[in-house]
Amino acid sequence: MQQYRYVRWFFLALGVVAVLGLTGMNVYSLYALHENKVQNYVENQKQQMLEYTNQVRNRFRYPVRHLWQLDMEEVKVSLQSPEMVCNNLTAIVDEAIQDGLFSKIYLSTADCEACDRLGAPLWKYHGPEGRFTETTNYNQLVSDGLGITRTRMNALIQDYRWSTRVIFDTQNSMTVALINSTNKEIVGYLLFVIDQDYLVNSYMAPKLANTFGTDGESGIIIWLHDWTKNEVLATTHPDVPYSYQNVDFIQNFPDLLNDWNLKVAFTANPDIAASTASLTRNLIVLAGAMILLLGAFVFMFLTAQRERSLAQRQALFLANVTHELKTPLSVILAAGENLSDGRVTDTKRLKSYGAHIYNESLRLGHMIDRLLDVAKSDNHNAGPQKKKTNLVPFLRNYIEKKQGYLESHNVNVHLETDEHVPEIMVDQSDLHSILDNLIDNAVKYSPKEKYIEIRVYSTDHGIALEVTDNGIGIPKGYHKLIFNKFFRVEDALTARTKGHGLGLSIVKDLVTRNDGEIVVESTPGKGSAFTVIFSLAYGLGNGNTDSPKKSKLQETEHAS
Ligand code: ADP
Repeated sequence: MQQYRYVRWFFLALGVVAVLGLTGMNVYSLYALHENKVQNYVENQKQQMLEYTNQVRNRFRYPVRHLWQLDMEEVKVSLQSPEMVCNNLTAIVDEAIQDGLFSKIYLSTADCEACDRLGAPLWKYHGPEGRFTETTNYNQLVSDGLGITRTRMNALIQDYRWSTRVIFDTQNSMTVALINSTNKEIVGYLLFVIDQDYLVNSYMAPKLANTFGTDGESGIIIWLHDWTKNEVLATTHPDVPYSYQNVDFIQNFPDLLNDWNLKVAFTANPDIAASTASLTRNLIVLAGAMILLLGAFVFMFLTAQRERSLAQRQALFLANVTHELKTPLSVILAAGENLSDGRVTDTKRLKSYGAHIYNESLRLGHMIDRLLDVAKSDNHNAGPQKKKTNLVPFLRNYIEKKQGYLESHNVNVHLETDEHVPEIMVDQSDLHSILDNLIDNAVKYSPKEKYIEIRVYSTDHGIALEVTDNGIGIPKGYHKLIFNKFFRVEDALTARTKGHGLGLSIVKDLVTRNDGEIVVESTPGKGSAFTVIFSLAYGLGNGNTDSPKKSKLQETEHAS
């Protein structure tokens, strides 16, 4: 049997581990699915940002898209003076100046004096007149833009195969180097001064709003940020202040607008929020299921443990009882043997043997009664044989029959009853067992001077039968536990007293099956009172509900 129990627990534990494993996998796959969704969403947004920066770059190229088609030989010849600039170039520049993106356009020959020296002559395009004129009135940024381009081109030109090259000086200017690709010669430089106000407010900000949305459900907040000045130039969500801590991702512009970048914060968009909520819901349900499962497992384990210890105690009880039964039997056997021999003739000894047999038979009968009580309370199928009973005569009769036992234990019994106690419905054999057990305990757990008071009185709830003793009492913490099977209070007297912790559990069972209730009041060192309340045979209102203190009839049985 023992090994089967372990096998059962092993399979049960295996089942729990399997469920735990499956649940873990389930949680993991749910989490992975969610993460995947979030990852896809973030990747998608990053792609869109890259696309956005490419579109900004193309926006700059668009006005000058025809420059690469120019015949650079012709351009070179025409760059001898501002008046001679060829029409093809002028037409392209003219289209570019119409575009709000550029505020001014300058043209420099390849030697580019303005690259080195601010104030050196440079050609500026006049839109309304449709021509270039020489000027020395331009600012440092123009000179810087040309200088940066010339330096970069000097490094690149040997391996360069195309006729134009666009180079940005941050967000200030865009310079196009005009190149004769056949002989790898720079022909000149066209510099476009960028109108930053137009760029930000008329192009980049509206495009940001269009591409990424501005409402709370877009799931993304973007700030166009000038990191050198730590200044926000445009944002999709003006109500959300920029903070470096909120930034999840930074997107730079490729080869242009070097001081600017896009700072991005990912917030939960409705899709992701719904997925997060569903994940959380699933996790809560799974956690709940796991807790239930573990709870059930622990519960089963504990109840199995309890059952096992109950079974062990039952086995111990049987062993003890058998042992206890043997003692009076062997005394009776020995006395009987001596008498049957006919060897004992002395009257004194004959009397003593008779007394032994009588007393041990009483003890034996008492033990058998207790065993029958256990069997009765364990047999839940057999219902009580209830009869109308008047407690006063029943108790008088009971005490009379118990006289021998009470005398032998030196007990002083006092019976106190109301004048008219209504009848109750009770199984008299059960009532007998209840009284036997309560009185046994009162006797067992009282000092040498034993005093028991039995009271019967009417209460609002029915008829109370109270058994009070002047014994050792029971600490408050044990009042509920003493009705459990095999429970015994751990103190010196209990340890010395024979018992199996079954009496009160039997009493409780018998009281319950007779529709009654039992309560205990007890003070350690002073004594205990067990009160059983039975319902009336004819219902409430039929009886006298006087307090027991007003009782008219009092009688005392002195059994000592
Ligand atoms: P048993 O008497 O065989 O131990 P019971 O179920 O009758 O078992 O009682 C349970 C425990 O309650 C006893 O071990 C004892 O500690 C305590 N008890 C019961 N009745 C009394 C009483 N009248 N006075 C003091 N302690 C009691």
